[in-house]
Amino acid sequence: MKNFKDMGKKELGLFFEEIGEKKFRAAQVYAWMMRGIQDFKDMTDLSESLRERLSEMQNSGKIALTCAQIDKVQSSTSDGTRKYLLKLLDGNFIESVFMKYKYGNSVCISSQVGCKMGCIFCASAIGGHMRNLTSGEMLEQLIAIERDTKEKINHIVVMGTGEPFDNFENLAKFLRTANDEKGLGISMRNITVSTCGLIPGIKRFAEDFPNAGLAISLHAPNNEIRNRLLPINKSYPLEELMSACKDYTEKTGRRITFEYALIKGINDSLAHADELANLLYRGLGNRLCHVNLIPLNEVSESGFSGSGAKHTADFHDRLTKRKISSTIRRKLGADIDAACGQLRMKTEFSKNKDNV
Ligand code: SF4
Repeated sequence: MKNFKDMGKKELGLFFEEIGEKKFRAAQVYAWMMRGIQDFKDMTDLSESLRERLSEMQNSGKIALTCAQIDKVQSSTSDGTRKYLLKLLDGNFIESVFMKYKYGNSVCISSQVGCKMGCIFCASAIGGHMRNLTSGEMLEQLIAIERDTKEKINHIVVMGTGEPFDNFENLAKFLRTANDEKGLGISMRNITVSTCGLIPGIKRFAEDFPNAGLAISLHAPNNEIRNRLLPINKSYPLEELMSACKDYTEKTGRRITFEYALIKGINDSLAHADELANLLYRGLGNRLCHVNLIPLNEVSESGFSGSGAKHTADFHDRLTKRKISSTIRRKLGADIDAACGQLRMKTEFSKNKDNV
């Protein structure tokens, strides 16, 4: 089956040539797809016979115009956050989150079904890695959400389930389509990709996408704690990670966001805040870095819990005193399953239970 969302304009052009149609049909179909049209019959600038032909091909499973459908939506009554569970053509589920900010609408997308990185506080790691998402499946998350909310998305964070740099080729193709003015037209400056620290990916990202933003899931001020929380640290320890971050900032001139989930009794003492400040001074001279403090969303299976408000505020104050730029991330969607992977996990879990 050919998934149209996976095809760029060039590949679509070749497809139309192969079936004996004019190449320029590709641009027309591409424009309709980006507007969220799900049925060839609604592509009114195509001839009726071509619309019928494409519909027949779709009905017989030769081509697909849509590769994910919204299965469930959880809406926060307090802040407009909407969490989506989408079903892929092969029956797998993925999650995406729509968030409203003062500066616009942002969507957090997944890049894989499951994740092989095994961070122990993360619901996405439970159940392991099933497969990579295609570029079209990443794109579809945005198109489906724009269609559902009827709101324009201006920011993308690739921070949902999966390690994006473990799926670099598809990620790159997706980013180019999202940025394309005839695609979704989202500025590279409004796109942030988050990694748990795959150094080869960081280097390639600096080369290929110097205008996009980089976030690092740091979560620990030293190797001992990080080895425990993020197994990837055993392959790419903090010294090497900070050196790759320095190279990144020198090459791109861009600030890196360091994500730091505050976990009660594990990484949230004032001594840890000092250690974190020292790490960032040593690595980046405290320039071009910003720390996002996130009290951990509790995931019952992990046995960890988030730090309380006072602890979080004290940690933040200590970083500020040490002249490290940081913010406490607003907890969006606190009344829904906001930690990534939770909604999918619940669905997969109940599906498996039903199968027993
Ligand atoms: S935190 Fe990110 S990289 Fe780590 S297991 Fe979860 S999804 Fe994968």
